Amino acid sequence: MKHTMGIIGFGGMGNHHYKHVTQEIDRLTVKGVYDIKDERAQYARSLGMQAYGSAEELLNDGEIDLVLVATPNNWHKHYVEAALRAGKNVICEKPVMMNSEELEQVMETAKQCGKVFTVHQNRRWDRDYLLVKRELESGTLGKPFFIESRVEGARGIPGDWRCTKVAGGGMMLDWGVHLIDQMLMMIDSPVSEIYAQVLNVKYQNPENDVDDNLKINMKFKNGVCAMIEVGTYNMLTMPRWYVCGDKGTMKIDDWGSGADIVYAKDVEMVWENSIIYTAAGPTRTMAPRPKETVEEKHVDIDEKKSVYLFYENVLDTIEGKAELIVKPEEAMRSMKVMEAAFKSSAEGICVKEEI
Ligand code: NAD
Repeated sequence: MKHTMGIIGFGGMGNHHYKHVTQEIDRLTVKGVYDIKDERAQYARSLGMQAYGSAEELLNDGEIDLVLVATPNNWHKHYVEAALRAGKNVICEKPVMMNSEELEQVMETAKQCGKVFTVHQNRRWDRDYLLVKRELESGTLGKPFFIESRVEGARGIPGDWRCTKVAGGGMMLDWGVHLIDQMLMMIDSPVSEIYAQVLNVKYQNPENDVDDNLKINMKFKNGVCAMIEVGTYNMLTMPRWYVCGDKGTMKIDDWGSGADIVYAKDVEMVWENSIIYTAAGPTRTMAPRPKETVEEKHVDIDEKKSVYLFYENVLDTIEGKAELIVKPEEAMRSMKVMEAAFKSSAEGICVKEEI
């Protein structure tokens, strides 16, 4: 079955979707776009697409059965609701909404309209994330007790709407939402505690008071602890992933680096064999394990691209053949974690709430 998509907000990400769909999704055609900027309309025409004069015009096009909303975040709710009410299925870019209250209202609208509504949580198909998830599911690391997930840039926030609070700027809604979503999909347990520092390192005037560095410590009900960090002013970086289980440790330095994993062998370890003599004194506790007591392996990133599965799943769901992979209820959990993190940071408290 063939489907036709219209895009509202044809900037960087709108264009990425256009290219991705045109190159990889045979049963979906992008017919046209609506963007407030003339230059983007002209660009769409140069690609052979229709550039609608208004969002209403796009939504009144009966050929379009799927609408992608890729505007700045503060416009998501307006366009998603308008598209649902016009009888369209909708993909919304992340962060799905500005807050959980908006999302609740939109989920209700989607239910009333009986249309498919999902969020482009594309980082569920990141190869590094899938590697960690697979390793945890295999059980070879044992029970995880600490999982750290970080993304760190050093150039600040791009100087567009992302550094304006009213537009939904800031790194929590931009990158925090991806890392939280990944973590929630990986740990099969509700979150029970959240403690965060959300900082404005470089954006400290009232107009641009968006968060540009953050750390969130989360504890899940099953005892697993996790830490999420998003930095934009970090000149040196930490590993993308650092996972500690009671049978091994896994480290992924960068998106494409693959994983280094060290498993503890089930053999007796003799303490006396390893002592580190630092300038100020000896330590046995912090000495590395003897080689014969561990097994080391490196796992390369699987280069196969699979993010096209997002679209295939949306189309299958529209056709009634599948269930959404990215469910609005899951996006709601991420929204609530972000809200708890903001609250924790603002009030200096640990938020104890089951999410
Ligand atoms: P952008 O600034 O490049 O593009 C936004 C476009 O929306 C611009 O062309 C702008 O003219 C247009 N626009 C602004 N207000 C509008 C309105 N009221 N009506 C119609 N068009 C309007 O930003 P972007 O990087 O493309 O980000 C857009 C969305 O995509 C954001 O929600 C962002 O969080 C998301 N995003 C997601 C990913 C991802 O990996 N999933 C990556 C980047 C951005």
